[in-house]
Amino acid sequence: MELDKMDENDWKYHGEGNKSIVVSHLRHCQVLRLLKVPSEDSAHTRQTAEQTLRHILNIMDYSKHVMKPLLGEKYVHSGEVVGLPLDFLRQMSLEVQQERPELRCDKVMDTFSGCGLCLPDLTQLPLHHLRDHRPPICVEIKPKCGFLPFSRHMTKECKWKVCRFCMHQHYKLANGKWKRLSRYCPLDLFSGSKQRMYVALKNLLEEPQNNLKIFKGGELIFSCKDDAKQQPDLNNLIQHLRPYFPHTNGLYNGHQPGKVILNEFIQVICSALLSGGDSNRSGEPRKMHLSESKPHCEASPFPRDLIRNGHHGLPKDSVLAKILQVQMLDNLDIEGIYPLYKRVEQYLEEFPKERIRLQIDGPYDESFMDTVKSCLNEDDGSVEYAIGKVHQYRVAMTAKDCSVMITFAPCEEDEEHKLNLEKPRFTYSVSILDLDTKPYEGIPHQYKLDSKIVNYYLRSTQAPP
Ligand code: ATP
Ligand code: ZN
Ligand code: MG
Ligand code: MG
Repeated sequence: MELDKMDENDWKYHGEGNKSIVVSHLRHCQVLRLLKVPSEDSAHTRQTAEQTLRHILNIMDYSKHVMKPLLGEKYVHSGEVVGLPLDFLRQMSLEVQQERPELRCDKVMDTFSGCGLCLPDLTQLPLHHLRDHRPPICVEIKPKCGFLPFSRHMTKECKWKVCRFCMHQHYKLANGKWKRLSRYCPLDLFSGSKQRMYVALKNLLEEPQNNLKIFKGGELIFSCKDDAKQQPDLNNLIQHLRPYFPHTNGLYNGHQPGKVILNEFIQVICSALLSGGDSNRSGEPRKMHLSESKPHCEASPFPRDLIRNGHHGLPKDSVLAKILQVQMLDNLDIEGIYPLYKRVEQYLEEFPKERIRLQIDGPYDESFMDTVKSCLNEDDGSVEYAIGKVHQYRVAMTAKDCSVMITFAPCEEDEEHKLNLEKPRFTYSVSILDLDTKPYEGIPHQYKLDSKIVNYYLRSTQAPP
């Protein structure tokens, strides 16, 4: 990309999260991830361009040197930091403003930073040019934490039985964040059992919240509605998907054909999630089993008597197994981490310069990674143990907040397939995105939030009638 040739007319609004706005290139399969700032940010509190550049370099380093080795080369694209003309950023910020959802407008694009992150557009398949008239479909899932915590530091029994996502739903409903409870349970998605994964994905389609988005040819076609009262439009999604599953026209003679299409669509997502990352691989995968924690969440709608313990597990190289493995670096739970955070804080009060040696704000390099990997299992009372566990916790938090992108498109059709009305074949690719650092300073907030969520859950579900 040439800095002096950056033209805002080549880019359009693609999407956003809490931290960044993403714009995509009209012709190349590329996106720019641009950081956001609070809209009433005064010049006084604003970060300098230099601080923002440091921050964005940290994000890239962290993805490259920490998350990529942990999650696997093939799933992670760390991108490159690019300098951007301030004029381009100002024009871009005006252009995207009208496209942005209202619920995200408490923040605006940072137009003073002079930089952004350039990434491949993962909603597209770069080699899938014009061979087929049907553009790639991309399913983006934010799966959240896929296991029940198993730390002896936990003070509330329900944390052993009900997963964080399911508890958090009640709290979010009470606070007006969402209008309906989601029936999605991450433990079903991470189970590796096809039936449970099917149910999890179906529940995501029925109530996507911010856990599911679907793109076609790079355009968003399905997500939660800005108006929280509105139901997601499944019929519209089915219309979009119909051309990808032509064989279903011949089947079932018009008996709920929409259901058949959604069913096939969910199966495609499932097999991509259980694969080794792309459709060109084969071989019987080794399975990964969870031994330490209970495999089922009591709040999940999946019928308990249909769970066959021990007969499933995720293939070891599958994207969900990789994410789960990193999430499980959090083995003390926030209730075990908070006292260690305080130990570090106390130490820093006495030796403030040690903040650099302990790499609390980076740099996120091989040496940071060594601390994460070589952390002791037993607490010897040292600050080294404390910082190792705190680093591990932060890495796990990133994996609890990332998204999986599954992008697929029909394989080239041969005549035989057309005639036999066989199931269509797809080529697909799976990636992980949004691998930002979670701030060290956020730990006290996480500690308080955890107790609020758990206490609210206990009050709302166990209140006497
Ligand atoms: P969150 O609030 O989930 O932490 P965030 O602000 O950190 O989000 P991202 O999740 O990285 O930002 O990006 C926001 C959205 O932009 C994503 O949900 C995704 O739809 C889209 N996006 C981000 N990176 C890419 C990419 N490389 N290719 C295609 N789309 C992308
Ligand atoms: Zn659950
Ligand atoms: Mg995100
Ligand atoms: Mg993020």
